[in-house]
Amino acid sequence: MSIIDVKNITYDYHKKDDQGNETESVRALDDVSLEVKEGEFIAVLGHNGSGKSTFAKHLNALLVPTGGTVYICGMDTSDTSNTLEVRKTAGMVFQNPDNQMVASVVDEEVGFGPENMGVPTDEILKRVDDALNSVGMYAYKDSSPTRLSGGQKQRIAIAGILAMKPKCIVADEPTAMLDPKGRADVLKVLHMLNKEQNVTIILITHNMEEVIDADRIFVMEGGKVVMNGSPREIFSHVKELQRLRLDVPEVTKLAFELKQKGLPLRDGILTREEFVNELRLLAKGRV
Ligand code: ADP
Ligand code: MG
Repeated sequence: MSIIDVKNITYDYHKKDDQGNETESVRALDDVSLEVKEGEFIAVLGHNGSGKSTFAKHLNALLVPTGGTVYICGMDTSDTSNTLEVRKTAGMVFQNPDNQMVASVVDEEVGFGPENMGVPTDEILKRVDDALNSVGMYAYKDSSPTRLSGGQKQRIAIAGILAMKPKCIVADEPTAMLDPKGRADVLKVLHMLNKEQNVTIILITHNMEEVIDADRIFVMEGGKVVMNGSPREIFSHVKELQRLRLDVPEVTKLAFELKQKGLPLRDGILTREEFVNELRLLAKGRV
């Protein structure tokens, strides 16, 4: 069974005027179908307004589809008797760390979720310690969240989700407001949770360097998933990505441009090492 199984979903936002009459509706998701297996690390790319956040909110029942069905571990998210279990299974981390903090001390912040779920106190204490250790923030257990950097706050937000023992974490541009160090730390934590604890990760990001280590990338445009493949497959289509107004990693772009100029490089080069190796092979071929 797939941990996430999305079948032909559409979602319409309804805008209302002052009198509460519906003025127009916006189709934010348009016939999206996809599956994610437990333990996958998925990156979601797409220009602003392509439907990424709307999609993300469907994965933990913050939104339910207008049409079609979302199954999380087999649970239909539109059945309200599943809502709590769906939210335990797929936790969400948002862009702005400040909007996610509710408590005045880090350990209370992390314990908030399990407490709301009715987890017994000694079990909460253990989960809080484990979660803080996992994100490398145990030393800040007694600190006030307001004193932390953006990257540290995001790691606390992730710990708060971890304390609910999710199978899946959906992170909607969690690094967008962070400095490079904060970004790297958050990315490292997401990859570690994926590798060591088999947590399924859905990472929405604009940063191309953050997606090259994903197992798969979904590219969204106009409410549809228009590309779905490994980073190498996706970044073999530089022209298509540019048409979708998306960047590609610097080295991928350089290799693509050299290829356009006639250098026989392969498509989908993702790292400097690969690029250098390709150039070496080419040079060897010539002597
Ligand atoms: P992304 O996260 O990729 O930027 P969103 O999912 O936020 O995209 O938005 C998809 C579409 O839905 C856009 O056209 C956006 O304007 C519209 N939209 C998003 N949120 C709302 C809302 N609360 N009310 C009306 N329209 C919305
Ligand atoms: Mg968004």
